[in-house]
Amino acid sequence: MANIKYFFPDSQDFVDPSFNFLTETRNEHRVRQRDDRYPHEIFEKPYDGILVSKAIVDGLRGSAGKYTQAQRQRFYREQVRTFFRLSDRYQSMGDCGAFTYADMHMPPYSVDDVVDFYENSGFDFGISLDHIVFAFETPKSKIQGEDLEECMRRQSLTLEYADIFLEKSQDKHFIPMGVAHGWNPESYKDAVDKLIVMGYEFITLGGMVPLKTSQILEVLETVNQARKPETKFHLLGISRLENVEAFEKYGVASIDSTTPLRQAFKDNKKNFHLGGGEYFTALRIPQLDGNLTMSRKIRSGEVDQDEARLLEQAALEAVRAYSQHKEDLETALDALMDYKKLYAGNEKYRYEYRRTLEARPWESCNCEICRAIGVEVILFRGSERNKRRGFHNINELYHHLHTTD
Ligand SMILES: [Zn+2]
Repeated sequence: MANIKYFFPDSQDFVDPSFNFLTETRNEHRVRQRDDRYPHEIFEKPYDGILVSKAIVDGLRGSAGKYTQAQRQRFYREQVRTFFRLSDRYQSMGDCGAFTYADMHMPPYSVDDVVDFYENSGFDFGISLDHIVFAFETPKSKIQGEDLEECMRRQSLTLEYADIFLEKSQDKHFIPMGVAHGWNPESYKDAVDKLIVMGYEFITLGGMVPLKTSQILEVLETVNQARKPETKFHLLGISRLENVEAFEKYGVASIDSTTPLRQAFKDNKKNFHLGGGEYFTALRIPQLDGNLTMSRKIRSGEVDQDEARLLEQAALEAVRAYSQHKEDLETALDALMDYKKLYAGNEKYRYEYRRTLEARPWESCNCEICRAIGVEVILFRGSERNKRRGFHNINELYHHLHTTD
């Protein structure tokens, strides 16, 4: 039985409940911030809480970030719970967004900036200011010289920040979490030891996203030796489902990850997740309108617009008819491929599409989204479908982390 908490990293992802999948139109009176829905407003419970990065809210180096100025002002005015319309069943965690400034010599914030961000926004947990150590040592490639010095500098800086952060957060309302960075299992353990001596109960293990699963497990096995009974580890950016039992054994109490959302529309094949590690490829039927490659081909005369529109509609209709058992699999597959030959010039994914059609995974899922939109969830087409598929994946991950099998 696994019982690991899942925090969903916010990137202002929501869907429009007024979207009509057949006509692809919206309610004209829709106001995004009022009417659009976050995952926790769609599902019974898709995660234990959300993770919000200071860098995402504020933007960095002149870039606007994910928040518009109006959203940012509203975030600070309303605080995290009201802004996200989060009920008491959810927790909130803040971090600095160290990935966004990983290439800078020093983090662009002070410890005070970060403490103020957490306190003024009303977070339940706050992760101390950190600077990512990127290199990881293997028996074949030892880190040495300048590279080692840089790893050590970033680790000591992160530990110094953690010490000040803990002191400054004593009279605040959030629970402080220290960050451990390292370049091999021993150096991670060293950082964890020091954080425990400082007085941290919650320790975040950072910089592990690029690591292989076997390396993550090695680090966990080693840092577990330093763990006190009350120590709880949080894995930043990691959701490797195959390993949740091992994670838990080594003291991992929570994780965060955007992988299930991103894979819905960024991965070549693992677009729709089912259970603890089954994946299906979504059926690509890109919209003719707004597809840059297609409009270029149409303008140059390479593609006939009317023919393209017919093939696009035929693919949509064939898949929908197949889902209602009114059309056979080969016909649906051919219609998908006829359109694919036109927009992509190939028949790639024929095998994967056949597997998806055969398995009908949208029927195996009983979540609010799959029940409401059926086969539309498996169509790789526009953000309303693609985000909903991502939300479904998040919900699957959450349930897998809390299964009893
Ligand atoms: Zn579903």
